[in-house]
Amino acid sequence: MNNIVAIVGRPNVGKSTFFNRLIQRRDAIVDSVSGVTRDRNYGKSEWNGKEFSVIDTGGYIKGSDDIFEGEIRRQVELAIDEADAIIFMVDVEEGITPMDDEVAKLLRKVKKPVMLAVNKVDNAMREKDAIEFYNLGLGDYYTIAGMNGSGTGELLDALVELL
Ligand code: GDP
Ligand code: MG
Repeated sequence: MNNIVAIVGRPNVGKSTFFNRLIQRRDAIVDSVSGVTRDRNYGKSEWNGKEFSVIDTGGYIKGSDDIFEGEIRRQVELAIDEADAIIFMVDVEEGITPMDDEVAKLLRKVKKPVMLAVNKVDNAMREKDAIEFYNLGLGDYYTIAGMNGSGTGELLDALVELL
């Protein structure tokens, strides 16, 4: 299957919230507790007349930093293999964490398109806070709020151009 988009990132950044918005169904379980979403969710979406599949990763992962070597690395590597484009989501509330740096390191080597989505940018102040994510070494980023959809249109416009 072509046009597969994977959403990767550490627990609790808002991947499933964004996924649910994309697929317009409540397929992924979202909870304020980290790691509630089960394994991987697959859904179908469409933007500007272009259809694509979306993978929400991060299933059974709990919110602890020391599990990176195991589960998050595995999820990111799976996504890299499987996807045609990758959305790497980070959280402006938390800033760059060591786990974000680890994921960025993996993604910098990838030949497929990687889009950096800085989530939870709910207000103008947070727009400024997002600047620190240039330090991930992945170039420019999109600021979004998956919860209310702000900024997601711009990200999706660019995404479907890459597919
Ligand atoms: P995941 O673990 O990466 O799948 O993250 P979830 O989608 O389960 O979301 C984790 C938490 O972040 C939940 O409490 C969400 O309601 C919250 N969240 C998601 N998107 C936003 C957003 O745009 N703004 C804010 N303030 N919180 C968000
Ligand atoms: Mg989730």
